[in-house]
Amino acid sequence: MTQFHQLSVHELAQGLTNKDFSSVELTEYFINRIGKYDDTINSFITHDFDHALKNAQTADQLRTKGDTRPLLGVPMAHKDNLCTKGVLTTAGSKILYNFVSPYDATVVENIAKAGFINLGKLNMDEFAMGSDNESSYFGAVHNPWDTARVPGGSSGGSAAAVASGFTPVATGSDTGGSIRQPASFCGVTGIKPTYGRVSRYGMIAYASSLDQAGTFGKSALDCAYLLNPMQGHDVKDATSINRPNDDYVADILAVKTDDKPLAGKKIGVAKAYFGQGLDSDVEKSIRTALATYEELGATIVEVDITDPAITLATYYLLAPAEASSNLSRYDGVRFGYRCEDPKDLMDLYTRSRSEGFGAEVQRRIIMGTYALSAGYFDAYYTKAQKVRRIIMEDFKKAFETCDIIASPTAPTTAYKLGESLDPATIYLGDVYTIGVNLAGLPALSHPVGQANGLPVGLQLIGKHWAESELLKTAHIYQANTDFHEQLPKFANT
Ligand code: GLN
Repeated sequence: MTQFHQLSVHELAQGLTNKDFSSVELTEYFINRIGKYDDTINSFITHDFDHALKNAQTADQLRTKGDTRPLLGVPMAHKDNLCTKGVLTTAGSKILYNFVSPYDATVVENIAKAGFINLGKLNMDEFAMGSDNESSYFGAVHNPWDTARVPGGSSGGSAAAVASGFTPVATGSDTGGSIRQPASFCGVTGIKPTYGRVSRYGMIAYASSLDQAGTFGKSALDCAYLLNPMQGHDVKDATSINRPNDDYVADILAVKTDDKPLAGKKIGVAKAYFGQGLDSDVEKSIRTALATYEELGATIVEVDITDPAITLATYYLLAPAEASSNLSRYDGVRFGYRCEDPKDLMDLYTRSRSEGFGAEVQRRIIMGTYALSAGYFDAYYTKAQKVRRIIMEDFKKAFETCDIIASPTAPTTAYKLGESLDPATIYLGDVYTIGVNLAGLPALSHPVGQANGLPVGLQLIGKHWAESELLKTAHIYQANTDFHEQLPKFANT
């Protein structure tokens, strides 16, 4: 039997077009794999199999009638912070344990229009706050490479599901690294687009000035297939930018991959991204990948960026501040979890929120409220905003001398579940990814090898709107190496 989970989206689309197989066959195949293995991985919160099969049948009928959309009938799955009409959307939280959205997020709508079939909703850290998926109310996700380890977060369900072969591609969201870091921990490719590239309408907000949805796949090309329909201006999101869409797939397919394809490209490397805290085996893989990029024709140049410690502090002020405001809407009144037998309105608010939110979310609401409170606002929030501007300027300056900046995606490989690291240690794991969100830049992570048997990801950061360039560069690397084809053991079966 064809191992559909080992095929690329390109191959799946071709097979469907040539009628080598049907969408129903494909969809059933992925549903079976999820049924067989997801008990150990826990990557899905909600299965939407009945809808998926019905949609697959419709897709097959439409194709027979002459519908030529290439992606018609290809399965995918959504992170559970994207609203899906009529299907549970929890954001990994008890406070939304029963929330069925009355509408689709714009990206969900766009992806469905392209013909993709949604298999269900993927596990995540509560409200996308976290780096290990352990804060999900629906239980931690297990890393398919070693089920005793975390998959990364917050889009850990998305990364683990793609690595496990439960779905060819998946959506994710990235506020400070939540696509790139789990991609790195699970050995898959993940891209966070430029802020404003993808509509945030219907994506449950964490920190609105940083949040951006993006994609996971086994390769840059697979990511491009899902990002193509996701992108675009949306009148329902005032921060989505009105500029022409790119065709990432066509751009990649047109690229030359042999004979020094990266000649003339300058890749910037910052000393600050190779400092204290970086695991030496991770560093080795990253240095080897940089050498491969040189062999492919790129020149490595040194650049300066803001001290990552400053970036980290800035993020952990601004993101909780925005979260404290965004999460004030969950009060037990209109939807979601409501405490039992409230004494009065205040009791209803207080208990619904303290029983409904987990510890990490409460910590961030408290930190954020503190930073925004009168008396501290200027000292913390306003100052952090000023530093954010400096971080943006520093990136801009760095990009005067290079086309792309490369760094490790995370300082370590996946750590053990339940290691109960203190919050500050976990926050330090975001040190290489958060600057990108503060500056609104696009960035991706792609696998470049293993350290101690666990995947390592390299981060490529681009100028604003340079998603295409990032994807093409990663594609060139992937056309000349096979790290992205290495799958966890059970995904080879
Ligand atoms: N780990 C970071 C945090 O906890 C980033 C999360 C994200 O990108 N959603 O805030």
